[in-house]
Amino acid sequence: MIPQPLLDGVIAEAWGLMAEIGRLTAAEPGITRAAFGEGEQIAADLVCRFAAGFGLAPEHDAFGNITFLLPGADPALPAITSGSHLDSVPNGGNFDGLAGTAAALAVLAATRKAGIMPPRSLRALAMRGEESPWFNMAYLGSRLLLAHGDRTALGERRRIDSGLTLREHVDALGFPFRTDATPLLTRQDTACFIELHIEQGPLLEEKDLALGVASAIRGNFRYPQARCVGEYGHASTTPRHSRRDAVMAVAELAIGLDALWAELAAAGDDNFVVTFGRFSTDPAQHALTKVPGEVSFSLNVGSTSEATLRLGAERLDAMIARIAATRGVRFEMGPRVTADPVALDPGVTSLLERQMEASGLPVMRLPTAGHDAGIFALSGIPSAMLLTRNPCGSHNPRETLLESDFAMGCTVLARAMHVAAAGPPD
Ligand SMILES: [Zn+2]
Repeated sequence: MIPQPLLDGVIAEAWGLMAEIGRLTAAEPGITRAAFGEGEQIAADLVCRFAAGFGLAPEHDAFGNITFLLPGADPALPAITSGSHLDSVPNGGNFDGLAGTAAALAVLAATRKAGIMPPRSLRALAMRGEESPWFNMAYLGSRLLLAHGDRTALGERRRIDSGLTLREHVDALGFPFRTDATPLLTRQDTACFIELHIEQGPLLEEKDLALGVASAIRGNFRYPQARCVGEYGHASTTPRHSRRDAVMAVAELAIGLDALWAELAAAGDDNFVVTFGRFSTDPAQHALTKVPGEVSFSLNVGSTSEATLRLGAERLDAMIARIAATRGVRFEMGPRVTADPVALDPGVTSLLERQMEASGLPVMRLPTAGHDAGIFALSGIPSAMLLTRNPCGSHNPRETLLESDFAMGCTVLARAMHVAAAGPPD
């Protein structure tokens, strides 16, 4: 094991690395590191410089993802891998993604500095383009790395702000974009993937816990562009029986799904979420004195359980049919977008929990949103996630990570990686 004072020193340096990256990618309010773009490249350069200070050389893949390898005693054994992404949402926080990258690097750097050669190699990853606002798709760096999806099609996606394709952005960074279907990491060379990430909800803060482990990654079904069409009418003279009020109809749908959520929560299922992120009448037509004839809205239903998502979809269909019939409205739900829930690896997850217990920390499992770890899990690599407390929500400039929580997370990650590295051969 790495001597704790040595590990603490390297963790403090990694914390300083994040602070410097945050300063150089500041974009008031918050920070901006565009996927396959400028801020992300600044982070990439600084991460490489930090690693070089510990004798860790970067290896760039064809998409700009960066690998750092600390060879083990038997380099032929699959490596213990950790890392996360370098990009951010526009005007986001400094720690979403970067914390997991810095933590993985800190473990390798401290291992190198301590002069330890683990039985298996340790690998740290700094990945590109995880955030969806840039190309309207998440996890692009890990998808390209693991050939999860067609690389040609991924390369043709256009970045929303620049109008350039992903491939053009990769070219501009000087990497030789490849379109073959061969994953660059597989279960054969990667024993497991552990991603440290800030929690993007309030559960750890509410329980006053520094760390937790993810139980699973939520799947969802989404209707980004739904509409409910009724009929505009006079607010004073249209009687109840002849109204076709679109606001009342969508409100009834929202209340109905909220009731299902309450029912599931009361039965002990804490995984279901329902969000009407957009809900608006037409400003060109709505008025104080008109019965609203149209509502446009988005609907996002998530759960870690496929059965719960199916139940949600069945109830939704039944409610839509009933509300349409009783209120004389029409629901046009538009395209349906789905993502399956992703199970994380029970073995690697309990390895993390054992290291938390060994560090005197209580263990809590909580569901999480999508992350690069999901693409690793879907690619057959046993994956787990270590989450750090974040009291201020995510994808905003107030996103928070306490230095002491980061240090605790790095310590647990270091122990888990070293225990896994000493594990039995596959
Ligand atoms: Zn992230």
